[in-house]
Amino acid sequence: MSHMFTQDELETIPCPNCGGSRFTSLATNDRYRMGLTTVGCEGCGLVMTNPRPSPARMEKFYAEEYRRYYTGFKQPSAEYIAKFRRAERARHHVDFLQAAGLLRPGMQVLDIGCAEGSLLKAIRDRVPDARLYGVEPNPDFAAFARTHAKLEGGWRKLEDLLADPDAPQFDLVTIVHVFEHVPNPPAFLASIRQVLAADGAIYIDVPDIAAYRDLDMLHVAHLFHFSRVTLSDAAHRADLAVTVLAQHTPPAHPISIRTVLRAGGADVSPGSGENAADRQSNWGHVRRAMRGAPLFFFRNTPAGRVLLRGPRRLARLLGLG
Ligand SMILES: [Zn+2]
Repeated sequence: MSHMFTQDELETIPCPNCGGSRFTSLATNDRYRMGLTTVGCEGCGLVMTNPRPSPARMEKFYAEEYRRYYTGFKQPSAEYIAKFRRAERARHHVDFLQAAGLLRPGMQVLDIGCAEGSLLKAIRDRVPDARLYGVEPNPDFAAFARTHAKLEGGWRKLEDLLADPDAPQFDLVTIVHVFEHVPNPPAFLASIRQVLAADGAIYIDVPDIAAYRDLDMLHVAHLFHFSRVTLSDAAHRADLAVTVLAQHTPPAHPISIRTVLRAGGADVSPGSGENAADRQSNWGHVRRAMRGAPLFFFRNTPAGRVLLRGPRRLARLLGLG
C-alpha cells in the first residue's frame, strides 16, 4: 500500500507480457518515498510497478504534482539542451542508427516523446531531406521541436496520430527512454505497427535493469523495468522480430538496452530457451536497491551529502579516489 496514493487511486494489472497474475514483491519503496511496490511476474520475470496509480491519477500527477518532483527547466532552450547534454546524447543514438543502416534519403521518421526535438534535429543533420514527425504532449516542447528540427508535423498523443487519416507510414519510429513509461508496452508496439512501413524499423532504448544500483531508477514515472529477455518478450507479443539487442552507455543517462524491431527478419533475442530462474535473475538488482534504501535516503539529506559525498570528492581532488 502506497502512502502517496489512496487505494481507489491504484489499479492492479495482469502482466502485459504473459497475462500472468502471480507476482513476487521485490521493493516497497522508490526514490521519492511514495511507497510504490515493484514486483516480478512469476510467469515471465517482467518487473513492474503493481499496483500502480491508475491512468486518470497519473494524468493528475503529471498536471499538478510532477514539477514538485522533477525540478528544473519548464521551458526548452539552448541552455537546457547543453546542461543535460541532449544534443550529444542524440548524436550517440544517431551514430548507431547510421551504422545500422537505418538512415536513408527522403525517409519518414517519427520520434515518440520527442521533447524539444534534439534526436530529430540530429537525424535532420545527417539526412537533410528526411520528413520528420514527433509525438509530444507538452505544448512548449512540441513547439520548440517543430522549429528546432524543422518538423513536417506532430501529434500530442499516439492516439491522435492513429486517428489521423492523413498520418504517413514511417520508415523509422524512435522511442528513447519512453517505453518504460507506457501503461501497456506490447499494446503500444501493436499500435505503432499500424503506422510502420512494411520494411520499417522501430528503435527502442530503455534503462537496463541489470545495471540498477540503487532506488534512483524506481520512481512513479517508470512503470516497467526491462531486461534483454523481457524487452524481447514485449516485441514478440506484438509479433515483431528483435533484429538488434545490445547494452550501451549513453552520455548523461543510465546504462541502457537498445533494440531494433521489424515486422520480419532474423531474431537475435535470448529466446524462449530461457528457464524461469534465468528470467528472474535480474530480480536481485531490485532487491539490492531496496536493501540499500536507508543509505540511499540518507545520502540525499544535507548531512548525508556532507558525510558521504564530501570525503569521496576530497579524495578525488587529491587524486586518491
Ligand atoms: Zn509475465
